[in-house]
Amino acid sequence: MKTLIKNAKAIITMNDNNDVLYNQNILIEDNRIVYIGDKEDDADKIIDASSMYVYPGLINTHHHLYQTFTRNLPEVQNMELFPWLKYLYEIWKNLDDEVIYLSSLVGMGELVKYGCTTVFDHHYVFRSDIECDFIDVQMKAAKEIGVRFHASRGSMSLGVDDGGLPPMSVVESLDEIIKDSERVIKKYHDTSKYSMNQIVLAPCSPFSVSDELMIQSAVLARKYGVKLHTHLGETLDEEKYCLETAKNRPLAHMESLGWVGEDVFFAHGIHFNDDELELLAKTKTGIAHCPISNQKLSSGIARISEMVKKDIPVGLAVDGSASNDGSNLLAELRAGYLLQRLKYSNNSITPKEMLEIATKGGARLLGRNDIGYLDVNMAADMFMIDIDRLQYVGTNKDPIALLATVGVNHPVDYTIINGKVVVENGKILIIDELNIVKKANIKFEKFIKL
Ligand SMILES: [Zn+2]
Repeated sequence: MKTLIKNAKAIITMNDNNDVLYNQNILIEDNRIVYIGDKEDDADKIIDASSMYVYPGLINTHHHLYQTFTRNLPEVQNMELFPWLKYLYEIWKNLDDEVIYLSSLVGMGELVKYGCTTVFDHHYVFRSDIECDFIDVQMKAAKEIGVRFHASRGSMSLGVDDGGLPPMSVVESLDEIIKDSERVIKKYHDTSKYSMNQIVLAPCSPFSVSDELMIQSAVLARKYGVKLHTHLGETLDEEKYCLETAKNRPLAHMESLGWVGEDVFFAHGIHFNDDELELLAKTKTGIAHCPISNQKLSSGIARISEMVKKDIPVGLAVDGSASNDGSNLLAELRAGYLLQRLKYSNNSITPKEMLEIATKGGARLLGRNDIGYLDVNMAADMFMIDIDRLQYVGTNKDPIALLATVGVNHPVDYTIINGKVVVENGKILIIDELNIVKKANIKFEKFIKL
C-alpha cells in the first residue's frame, strides 16, 4: 500500500537540522516513509496537501486513560493531589473491563484527533477482588483505534492499612504484581522496528508502593530491557511523605532503590532542587512533563527550560483526564510553552524546543529511534493541518512555532499512524465515533453511581 502526500505547503521535519520543506511530497509505503522530495510517484491513495502543514506525530508520555470516566467531577474541582486521590480511589476501586475498554477508546480517540500517534498509558489500578485483564483490554482498544501503544503494568502494594494512600481492595501482593508484569512483557513487549506495542513497568508512586516492589520492578525491567516509570516530584506532600517515611528526599530515595538512569522516566518532576537536576542530567533520567495537570492541581511549574539546557530527556504528556480534564496534546503543547514563558521570560524554551519535547523528546523517553521526526525510513507517523482557515491568516512565517504560539484548537485534518490514515477531515475513520460516545456515556452513568 502506497500513500502520497502531495505538494505539502510545509513539511516540518523536526530532523537534526529542523528542516522545513516547502511544496514537497512524502511517499509512504506500508508503515514507513520511503521518499521525501520533488518527485511525484504513483500511489494507491493521494492526499492533496497543498494547503497543509505536515508535522511528525505527537508522543504522549504519561496518561491514565481510565480517568476519562472521572473528569470534570464537581466534588474534586477544588482539591490538591492527596485529598483528590483519596476521594477518587473510592470510585476507581470499582473499575471493570468495560470501563477500561471504553475509557481507553475515548481517551485514545481524542488523542489521535489532536495529532497524537504514540500513546503511553500509566495504568496502576488493579483490583485484588476480581480477575483483571486490564492491559489485555487496553491493547485491544489500541489496536481498534490504530494507535501505537506503550502500556504499563503499573501497581500499588501499599494501602491505607500500611500507611499508604489507596484502599486495600486495589492493593496487590508483590508476587502477584511481578508475575503479571512478566506475563504482559512476554506477551506484548515487541522491540522490533516500527513496533506497535511495548510494555513499561510502572509502580504508581512512592506513597502507594513498597520499597521492595520498586526494587523488584527494576530488576525485572532490566532483565527484559523494558522502561521504568513512576510519579515523582509532583507535590510537596509527596516530599514530606518521603522525608518522614524514608528519611530522604524523593529523588534520593528512588536513587537508593536503583531508579535512575536512561531507562527511567518520571511523571511531573516539579520539585527538584539544583543538585537533583544535576543528577538527572548526569544519569539521563527522563521527565514526562504534564503542564495542564500541574496547573489544575496547583502542583507547581516544572523547571523544564533548565532541564532542556542540561540535556535532561523531557517528553510531553496530558496526564490522566481527572486532572486535566482532556486528552489533547496540542493544548498541552501551547499551555506548556506559555507556562515556561511565564516562569523564565527570555530564558524560556523556544516554540521549536517545545515541539521537540512533544515529538523527539517523547521518542527518547520511550527508547524509540523510529518515531519522533519525519525522514526516510522513519515510521509513517504524522499529522496534518489545513492552514487555509481564518485563525491562521498571517501566521505562515514560522510553521515550527505555530503550534506553541498560535495554537491549534480543533481536531487535525489528518493523522497517519504506521502508514494508515486514522483521522481524516477531523474524524476517526477506523471506529464508529458516535457509537462509542453512546456506549461510553451509558457505561459512565452506571459506573459513576457506584
Ligand atoms: Zn499521573
